[in-house]
Amino acid sequence: MPADTHCPYCALQCAMTLTPEPITRPGSASVAGRDFPTNRGGLCKKGWTSVELLDSPERITRPLVRQGDGTFAEVSWPDALDLVATTVASSRARFGADSVAVFGGGGLTNEKAYQLGKFARLALGTSRIDYNGRFCMSSAAAAGNRAFGIDRGLPFPVEDLDQADTILLLGSNVAATMPPFIGHLAGARERGGLVVVDPRRSATAKLTDDGAGIHLQAAPGSDLVLLLGLTHIVFAKGLADLDYLASRTTGADALRRSTNAWWPERVQARTGVPAGQLRAVARRLARGRGSYILTGRGVEQHVDGTDTATAAINLALVLGLVGRRGSGYGTMTGQGNGQGGREHGQKCDQLPGYRKISDPDAREHVARVWGVDPSVIPGPGLPAVELLNELGELGGVRCLLVHGSNVVVSAPDVEHVRRGLATLDLLVVCDFFFSETAALADVVLPVTQWAEEEGTMTSLEGRVLRRRRALEAPAEVRSELWILQELARRLGAPGEYSSDPAVVFDELARASAGGLADYSGLSHELLDTGIAAYWPFAPGSEGTPRLFLDRFAHPDGLARIVDVAPAPSEEAPQQGGVLTLITGRLLEHYQSGAQTRRVPELARAQPEARVQIHPATAAGLGIVDGEVVELSNVRGTVRCRAELTADIRHDTVFLPFHFAGVECANILTERATDPVSGMPEFKRTRVRLVASERV
Ligand code: SF4
Repeated sequence: MPADTHCPYCALQCAMTLTPEPITRPGSASVAGRDFPTNRGGLCKKGWTSVELLDSPERITRPLVRQGDGTFAEVSWPDALDLVATTVASSRARFGADSVAVFGGGGLTNEKAYQLGKFARLALGTSRIDYNGRFCMSSAAAAGNRAFGIDRGLPFPVEDLDQADTILLLGSNVAATMPPFIGHLAGARERGGLVVVDPRRSATAKLTDDGAGIHLQAAPGSDLVLLLGLTHIVFAKGLADLDYLASRTTGADALRRSTNAWWPERVQARTGVPAGQLRAVARRLARGRGSYILTGRGVEQHVDGTDTATAAINLALVLGLVGRRGSGYGTMTGQGNGQGGREHGQKCDQLPGYRKISDPDAREHVARVWGVDPSVIPGPGLPAVELLNELGELGGVRCLLVHGSNVVVSAPDVEHVRRGLATLDLLVVCDFFFSETAALADVVLPVTQWAEEEGTMTSLEGRVLRRRRALEAPAEVRSELWILQELARRLGAPGEYSSDPAVVFDELARASAGGLADYSGLSHELLDTGIAAYWPFAPGSEGTPRLFLDRFAHPDGLARIVDVAPAPSEEAPQQGGVLTLITGRLLEHYQSGAQTRRVPELARAQPEARVQIHPATAAGLGIVDGEVVELSNVRGTVRCRAELTADIRHDTVFLPFHFAGVECANILTERATDPVSGMPEFKRTRVRLVASERV
């Protein structure tokens, strides 16, 4: 039977129909795009080729346990689970509950993310749980919570963008990461109103060509200054919406005073963007109500990512764009369930419903749903980078369970992570492929892929979507829900752990009731009727496609304008080299590449990492196109081919982060983090560059 479901990759969650091919291709399916508001039947090449992974010969199909000689042996499920439970229980008894940690992923379904958070807190009793969304959305989430009291990537349906007059898109290369999305930029492009801020002339920046808009090629990490400059112009030119500021916000006066210092010529000197362009963009944003400001990882993946996203929100508030039909601010969620994955308890400081784990009322409510005393729920843990720093430390983590994440490719300073993993007493990885992290594990547990499971995902616009099973999983492959249920039973955990996604979702909905991300009243059955379910979704409601129309989520209903300023460190570039490295994505690959590098068509198109260098910069270093070069700093060296392109600034190089081994971009990135969000610095790393044979 064909199954209507959604793509396994990014947060656009394009709708697709899978049809099993039992005769021509047993174990796999054909895929067709399905009409849906976000993708209108379109899929990108990642989506079209996603079914190639279902019957991949590289799939793990039996539990694996590392032997004394370092090789892996296939074992039965009871043996694998007994080994995990025994080792974890021993670690807890000898070193305390926080010696066991869990690392989750933004690609897990809502049901798995919820169950993982519950399992960590109740079955393991550990506070040490966080997930790879910390590397993706945490700064935007922190900024949204601070300003609006709630964090939903796009607080409006994607189709609202179709009517936009002007869209200011900062640090997001949607033409590569989610191509069907660019259909929603078409209206703004027709009206000459697409403004793209990016240090590269990316595929998205090129959409501004031929009068469709303007590309602001700002220096890496200068978005905060650029946004302060735009806000300065809006105030100085009388373009601020003063009635809106008075009735819907607090804090505007302090921002007006502080942005006085950011006049356009000063901003030009810091960002490289001409003052005239800044004035034109500010006027354009203010000229009507059809303006949107959207941010992506280029803005957010910095040690000042929260403040930079806040500066974008401030600009949107000063212009009176937020909470009005036909205008707004939003952030482009990256991972498939990046939104839902941060709502249900796999973040170190949260309980289901996007509740604070330190809030006594939240603990009481969730404990009641879980059938335990609130005192058994641990307090806040550590954000991802700090958690990984604890691996092997005295009194730190000794056992780690990894679900849906490939940390030795995607975390910053991966050689440090690799050294930490090597010290563990137990590393367990649940995956469907032998990822680079799985290759280091003691136990590898094979799990279902998206086409083999039921569940829900929450898209970048906060819409809860049904994932549906099209195929049976291979005989010895299991779902994470079943694995967590079995481990919880072996550990004598309090509470119930179902392996039925519909049952887990019902519990999730009860646990979320009254929280910010309220799923109460929703069920798989109701979602199957085809309703458009945007959270918050209280019983009897039709959900909330557009947030903030009447009030923001702070108790007084007002948005907070938070005065932000660039850190002194921006004045004094980091040590380590003369070029600034930006990491990012390619059209053909997704996240760490553990999946897409195994799709033949995608691997043929982009088989290796290539560092983009401006021809003038390369000429100065004596580097020619295609030559093998070395990028290095104090953390290590990446070796890959050079790709010369005038699309990048002279002072900047770009490296995709989808590749492993000596091509792994995160060998070079650092563990410094944003003090509010815990986001590492991924897009402002100093490197030296030299042709390989001349090292
Ligand atoms: Fe999948 Fe995203 Fe491509 Fe859509 S845009 S097909 S969701 S990877």
